[in-house]
Amino acid sequence: MSSLLILNYHRVTHENEFIDPRYRSFTIAESDFIKHLQLLHDLNIPVIHLAELDHVNVSGLSVALTFDDGHHSDINIVLPLLKKFHFSATFFPVVHHINKEGYMNWEELHLLSKEGHTIGSHGLTHRRLSALTLNEVRSELSDSKQQLGSRLGIPIRLFSFPYGDYTRAISDLIPKTGYKQSVSTEFGFNEIPTKSTVLKRWNIKRTTSTRELKRVLDGNILTHFKYRLKTQLSNHFRSIQRT
Ligand SMILES: [Zn+2]
Repeated sequence: MSSLLILNYHRVTHENEFIDPRYRSFTIAESDFIKHLQLLHDLNIPVIHLAELDHVNVSGLSVALTFDDGHHSDINIVLPLLKKFHFSATFFPVVHHINKEGYMNWEELHLLSKEGHTIGSHGLTHRRLSALTLNEVRSELSDSKQQLGSRLGIPIRLFSFPYGDYTRAISDLIPKTGYKQSVSTEFGFNEIPTKSTVLKRWNIKRTTSTRELKRVLDGNILTHFKYRLKTQLSNHFRSIQRT
């Protein structure tokens, strides 16, 4: 049995590049992103493929890298850095954002896949799934899977919940719509091998320092407690908003 920490990134920017204030907290500077990758490399932590959890053979701690929303920085900043560090990752584009300004196009997604990275789905429209009817959720899951799979010619087996938002009824649809697994934004480590269809993930923010990342990787109990508490509080407020 070993333990897997999944890191979740969004947009990465070059120095001095304009940052939309709406997305600032989840936009990370390239120099900080490089420090994160360098730390994983220096600590010799295996960076594993989310798509291969069943046959991965590691003991102790491993890490998986994920990128949500399909931002254009996935191709012009993230891809060359992953290549440099020999890391693989999973990318979760939103189908209706593909080809739009600031996001990747189909050829770029195809290139990521050809380079050995995994493509999952982040839905059709990036709406909060718990605000939709179950039929609409089914369409977000199935139609995005079908469109990505047929345009890219690859199986789509992983789903990332927009805003990390899901309910039990929604996660029950993951296997029913042909996905193997999904990822949330609930902080925590995953035991592998796992039978769970919803994996925990750490949502990396602009303010997440390399020191903080190291503390979590080192298993600092207070840091873990802080993030678990944050997750519980945000889930609590989300459930209040829903009622
Ligand atoms: Zn998203």
